[in-house]
This record gives sequence, structure tokens and C-alpha cells, in this order.
Amino acid sequence: MTIELNCQECDAAFELEFGELMEGEPIVCPECGQRAPASVTEELANALDDLLARVSDLRSRFHISLSVESDDLPPPYDEEPSEEEEDEDESYDEDEEEYEDD
Ligand SMILES: [Zn+2]
Repeated sequence: MTIELNCQECDAAFELEFGELMEGEPIVCPECGQRAPASVTEELANALDDLLARVSDLRSRFHISLSVESDDLPPPYDEEPSEEEEDEDESYDEDEEEYEDD
């Protein structure tokens, strides 16, 4: 199983094996040297390890194939973390719903 990566810096495409990542291989762009933070890489490796364990748990019942695309993440991960989090919409319209107890 491989992870396909596309460098945001230089647009190079490369692949990394799950196994390599879980053995502590860093995520480094072969073209420009852009590198993922070690802590994040490690957490990703741990998450993959967990994911594989769960898939393994299920494989007697279901064949599982999944794809994850960082451009297509579900909420709350669908927005790129902005450098400045000044964007908060503080204008909650309070719902008109009223809860009446009996
Ligand atoms: Zn690159």
C-alpha cells in the first residue's frame, strides 16, 4: 500500500509505502527537499497503524478499500487551517426554537 504525495512547493509527485512510513521514514520531497514535520509524520504513521489494525479486525467480514484525499476531506477537516484564525463568524443566529417542558 502506498501513499501518493504531491509537493505543494514544487508540484513533484512521489510515493511512500505505508511500511516505510511506519518504520519512521520521513516525508521528504525528492525534488525540492520540502519536509513534513517529524512529529506530524510520526502521528500519521501511528494513525495508519491504527487504521490498518481496524481494517484487519474487519477483514473477515468485509473487504475494505478506501481512499483519502487531502483535497476532499469531510468536515471539520475540509478547510485548510488558516495561518490567522481571525475568520470566526461570531454571529450565531439563535434558533427560534423554544424547548417547552410539557
Ligand atoms: Zn517539492
